[in-house]
Parts: sequence; structure tokens; C-alpha cells
Amino acid sequence: MWYPDFARRSALSRDATPGVCPRRPGPLRLLAAGLATLALGLLRGADPASSAVADLDRGGPDPLTGQGGDVVARVFYGERSRLAELAGRYDVFEFADHEQGYVLARLSPAEWTEAEATGLRLELDAAHTAVLRRRPRLAAPQTGGIPGYPCYRTVEEVDAALDRLAHEHPRIATVVKIGESWEKTVPGGRAGYDLRALVLTNPERPGPKPRFLLIGAHHARELTTAETALRFAEELVAGYDTDPEATWLLDFHEVHVLPVVNPDGRKFAELGLWWRKNTSNTNGCAEYPRYGTDLNRNCGFLWGGVGASELPCNEVYRGPGEFSEPENRALRDYVRGLFPAQRPPDFETPAPDSATGLVVSLHSFSELVLHPWGWTTNAAPNGAALAVLGAKFAFFNRYRVSPSIELYPTTGSLDDWVYGERGVAAYTFELGTAFFQECAEFENRVYPANRPALWYAAKAAREPFRAPAGPDVVSVTIAPPRLVAGASVRLNARADATRWFGLKNLPAPRRIAAARWTLDAPAGDDGSTGFPVAADGALDSAQEDLAATLDTTGWAPGRHTVFVTAQNEDGVWGLPTAAFVWVEPLALAVSGTDEGLVLRWPSLPGRVFTVLESVQPDGGFTPRWTGLEDRAPENTLLLPPPGAMARFYRVRVEP
Ligand SMILES: [Zn+2]
Repeated sequence: MWYPDFARRSALSRDATPGVCPRRPGPLRLLAAGLATLALGLLRGADPASSAVADLDRGGPDPLTGQGGDVVARVFYGERSRLAELAGRYDVFEFADHEQGYVLARLSPAEWTEAEATGLRLELDAAHTAVLRRRPRLAAPQTGGIPGYPCYRTVEEVDAALDRLAHEHPRIATVVKIGESWEKTVPGGRAGYDLRALVLTNPERPGPKPRFLLIGAHHARELTTAETALRFAEELVAGYDTDPEATWLLDFHEVHVLPVVNPDGRKFAELGLWWRKNTSNTNGCAEYPRYGTDLNRNCGFLWGGVGASELPCNEVYRGPGEFSEPENRALRDYVRGLFPAQRPPDFETPAPDSATGLVVSLHSFSELVLHPWGWTTNAAPNGAALAVLGAKFAFFNRYRVSPSIELYPTTGSLDDWVYGERGVAAYTFELGTAFFQECAEFENRVYPANRPALWYAAKAAREPFRAPAGPDVVSVTIAPPRLVAGASVRLNARADATRWFGLKNLPAPRRIAAARWTLDAPAGDDGSTGFPVAADGALDSAQEDLAATLDTTGWAPGRHTVFVTAQNEDGVWGLPTAAFVWVEPLALAVSGTDEGLVLRWPSLPGRVFTVLESVQPDGGFTPRWTGLEDRAPENTLLLPPPGAMARFYRVRVEP
């Protein structure tokens, strides 16, 4: 296997010794340096009128949080090639403004001084610094959630919600323990947590099924991520049996949700700390609040390369070895159990177009959809397909789509490992615009934008490298939605091959070439190839209204699901969209007249009926009267006089 030379060499290896942490200034020096830094920052162009700046007057080290004189700075990196070094040196956020040429980073006073000494231009980001300085305060009235942010459930509240889902919906929801947090594996410290995944599927329908894995809170301080994952799971469960999309997704797919994969770090973040890593303090850094391993630099597949640090106190510390952290080992083993390897772990071989499975890890912030690779500007072997599905996600959340390295270089990230080793489509969503996103913004923008992207992800797990290039089907309706078996219904839908966003080079519009419907299973899942659905006119554009008349003869009474898919001119079938239709048995009635007993049933224009008779209610029916043509407004049949035995009748609609 070929490894690039640079990927095995940390950007910091020339001036750092593993396991040794630079000495930090004491609290008093930190205070003095912090105030000096703030003054410098204000001179550097922050808006002095903003209320955010007024908040900065409260600066100075916080005995509770210890994040004292730190500020959020715009670090102007100059050459793109310096980004890897910066990302491996400072607490660089998952945010970059490449047009203006800066990244956001939290800098201590000493780091500010050091960064300036290396010739970097710095600018205070007043708004983000103000949020950094904000003390956690309970929102009034607040009975649950993270202090000051009641919309985000705490680790314990997330656990309780998972238990509640499994308890109230035992048929489709199960909670599984996949491992333990670092604190729990270390004797004598905090209690720590079990790492828990919610598994959503209808097990009565046998697999194997395509699997979608959604992960939150790999980084602790990214508050929106766990709540987004949990709400998505709750909506899917609530929609089962009532919403056709939720129902078929849980019947035919498996959805695995790990809302909090880093509960120890997350608990620190709930105190108001901008804690990113896990809370391991035995890897060579015991200095609060700098210890911990960056779980998203600790995964295998080129672990130890660019964009990660070998300094244990660094915010992007990669850990002493790949998958050294218990949270990541649990995640690794769980992912390996879910997804067979679909490509060799090299840099050239693509997974086949027919590969299944999808992993989305939620992070924040900066409104991005990122996909492999993070370590090289060379496209991943399935890079084009990853970009296409990314552009589909962006159609919903309106985020920008790119390989991770466009943000800055990284190694040891989860998505590179998932794709690199398992050949599974893997994404990082950078949600919203802040770590501690205000609840109003989360409720009004962040969650509503990402909710449909996650629903699409659950659907795309069946064929992530192929089907997203095909047309989507939307607005599937069946009229009437309730009918008697044998009646005809009207199916309407719209095929749309233009749903892309967020890529520099969006896929060219493709003409809709065909559409089909299948009954009670997506096309291919039960071997059915389906029946054609016609367009309103010629199939000549990228958006087409579709219609078909469905003959329900022979459909069993009960609820049915109609799936519609569309194909583009390249022969690519898109993902299915479903609608329910309820079939009711023919309502039979017997009434007495002067001539005797009469069997009555509703008119189905144009149909032919057979009346069957039996001496028992549950079986033994044999045809007695055949070829009965429909008569409006009602069908009637004069029955022979009843004998000594009771008789039972059924009416069958002939094809
Ligand atoms: Zn993150």
C-alpha cells in the first residue's frame, strides 16, 4: 500500500516532543495577558459599538471554566499550505473563510503572542469571543436542557429519551450498549457513561437491509449535533405506521442513531466549557482544561498525519495510537459490525456503484457538507458520487459541499476511516453558525434545514453511490386513498432531476426517461421491476408530472404502499418515494324482499364478479355464480331459499 510521504509526518514533529506539554501561564499572568490581548484585538478592527464587545469587558480567567483570557481570533493564514500546520497547532474551529483567507481559532494570550511572532495576522472575532465568555445561566423558566440552552437535552436527558423510545415502541426501537466512555473505563474517577445506540427497524421484515448510521457529539462542544440526531430518531419513530416514508424506511432499512458518542466531554461542555475532546488525562497531558484526545483525529486510516497534533495538550491531539480511545474503539467495532468492507483500504479502488450503507457524523459549525478525503486534494475513488449525494443533501440544508480538505487538512477523522476502510459513503455535516448555537436559531433554521437532509440520507443508504444521481420523486398522491378492492385509483407524482445545491460544478440537468411504480416493496427489494408510469406529455425535460391508473384487482384488504421511482436519460434510477392506499373488502349486505333473500354489493363500473359460497365462515368457498357484470347503482343477486344449513357468501372481482 502506498502512503504519501507527508501523511506520516506531523506538521509539528520538528519542534515538539510527544507527551510533553508546554507550560501554561498562571492565572494572574493569564489575566494580565488576556486584557492586553483584548485591547490589541479591539484596535484590530472589531466593531466597538457592538454589544458583543461590551461583553468582553467581563474578560479575565473564569475560575469555573478556566477559559479566562482566551479569545476567538480570525487567523489569516496567508498561503493555503499553512492551514495544516495551523490546524495542528491551535484550536482551529471547523470554519474557514477562504475568500477572506482566515480560519477561526480560540487562542490563549500566549498563543496570540506566539502566533503574531510567527508573522500571522490576527483579528479578534468579537461576537464569537462574547459567546466564549458567556457564563452558563439558566434560561427562565428552565426545567430541562443545558443551562442557558433549554432546546438541547443533556447527556442524561438524551439517555432517558432513548429509553423512552424503546419502551414505548418495542416493535421498532431497541437501545444497544456499544461500549463505555473513557471515564467509565478508568477506575477511581468520574462514573462515566455507557455509549448507547438506538436501532430503528421493523425486525418482522427480514434483512439484510441497507443501514444508515447517524452520529452526534463526537466533538463535545458542538451542542446542536446530539439534539439533531435525537429529534430525527424521534420523528422517524413517531411517523412509523402513519407516515409512508417513515414506515417504509423502517420496514426496509435500518437506522442506527448514536446521539452522544463523547458523553464525558459533552458533560464538560454542558457547564459552558468549549470542550472539544474526550476527557482522557492520562495520555501525557493532565492540565485542565487542555487534556483530552480529539476523537475526530484518532481514527485509523492514515492516523498520525497532517492536521492532527502529537502534543497531548493540543485541541487536535490525535492520541497515542489509532483508535486509542474507548469511544472510538466502540465506534470502530460497531461500524465494522454494521458494514462489510466494500473496497480494499487503498487510495485507488472505488466501492462498486451497488454498494450500500451511509454514515453521517454531525459536527458544528459553518454550514458545510464534507466528504472524504481530508488528507489529500486528490479525489476519493468514489469522489464524484460522494459529491453528487452531498449536493443532494445541500438541496435541503443549502450548505456548501466539498471534500474535507477544502476546510483544512485532517487525518484520523471518522469519515475518512469509514470510507477508507469500509467503502461506505461517509459525510460530516457542519451544522449552523456556532458551537453554542442560540435556541431560536436552532429551532428556526438549523434543525428545519437539516431534517429533510437526514431523511434523504436514510433513504440514500440503499444505494448512495448511484441512485442520488437519478431523479427524485416528490408529491406522490393516490386518489381516492381508500377504495374497494377491484376499483381503479389515480396515481400522481412528480419526477425532478434538478434537486442539487452547494457544488461549484453541479451535475448537468438530465432528462427524465422513465418512471415506474411497485406495490408494497421498493423496486428490486422483492424482485419486482414495477409497472410504467406515464408523463403528462412527452418525457422531454428534467421535471415531469407523472400519472398512472392502478387496477387494484386482487389486492388484499388492508393498507398498501405504492412506491414510485424515476429514471434519467443515462439509465440511472433515483430513490423511491411512497404513498399509502387502503383497500377495503367489498361490503356485502343481505336483505329480505318479497321474493326472498337478496345479496347486495357496491357498483364497480366495468367490472365482472364471481359470487362464492361455503357452509363455513372461514374457508371452503367455491364459485357458484360467475360472469356477473356490474350494474349501477348497486349489484344484487337473488339467493336460493336457505336450507337446513347456514350458507356464507363472498364476492370476487375478476381481473
Ligand atoms: Zn467537530
